[in-house]
Formats: sequence, C-alpha cells, structure tokens
Amino acid sequence: MAANETREVFVTGLRNAHAMENQALSIMKPQLSRIENYPEVAAKLEQHIRETEGQIGRLEDILAGLNEDHSSLKDMALSFTGAMAAMGHTMAGDEIQKNSFANFALENFEMAAYKSLLTVAEAGGYGAATSALQANLAEEQAMAAWLDENIAAVTTKFLSLREAGERAKV
Ligand code: MG
Ligand code: FE
Repeated sequence: MAANETREVFVTGLRNAHAMENQALSIMKPQLSRIENYPEVAAKLEQHIRETEGQIGRLEDILAGLNEDHSSLKDMALSFTGAMAAMGHTMAGDEIQKNSFANFALENFEMAAYKSLLTVAEAGGYGAATSALQANLAEEQAMAAWLDENIAAVTTKFLSLREAGERAKV
C-alpha cells in the first residue's frame, strides 16, 4: 500500500475515533445524570467520562501532529453507537441492565478501534502516536473489564430493588 494511502487510512481512523469518543460522552453523560441507586456505577461512569475527555485530547494532539486540523472534524454519528444510545435512553424499568450491556458493547467497540489504529500506526511508521493510542486502549480495556466484573452485581441489585417494588429506579 502506498504511504499516502496508509496516511489516509490513519487520518480517517483517527477522525472516526474522535467521533466515537464524542458519541461515548453523549451516551454516558445522560446515564450518569439519571442514576440514583447504583453509586458504584455512577462513580465509574464519572471516572470514565473524565478519561474520555482526555482521550479526545490525545486524538486531537495526534491529528495536530499530522497537520490535520481537528476543528474541521465533522463528527458523524456512528450508527452502531447511535443505536446503543437510543437503547440506553429507553425509560423501561430495566434501564440499568440495558445500559450495562450497551456500555460493555461500546467499550469493546472502542478497544477494536484502537487496536486497529495501532496496527495502522505501525504500518505507516507513525511511532509518535503509539503511546497515546495505547493509553486510550488501556483505559477502554480497564472500563470493559470493570463492566464485565460488575454485570452480576448490577443484576443482583436490580433484582433486590425489583423485590422492594422500586421498578422504575435507575
Ligand atoms: Mg473511549
Ligand atoms: Fe471508553
């Protein structure tokens, strides 16, 4: 593949990742504002929202280093994450469950995106971007692992709240 092709694939991937992260914020922030009964989930979401803002900054730095102006970025909604956002916004009584599944899917989607970007960076010799992309990937992996470990606890709490008659509480 010609070097300019690799560069184009890399820049497009970085822009898509930038859009993905903004989409992630638009999924997590409304969830955080609605949570009342799951303080551990709220604390973790709050932490990952801050991490995500840092991830966006890292992507903008990489793009700036490639002389790609991020202000011209058009963050197109990704259909996959968009569908998950819509699912998360449902007002059904099992919102915490659906959000847990959607968040787990989202973090794995993000992991795949960064693994791919790291591969393109290596192919194109963009070594300066590697540590920032690895930092983003590590945060997605940590969040995915936390969600994975907490699906049982969230479900157990959901069941006990249901038993107590608090059906609609998030
Ligand atoms: Mg992210
Ligand atoms: Fe993430």
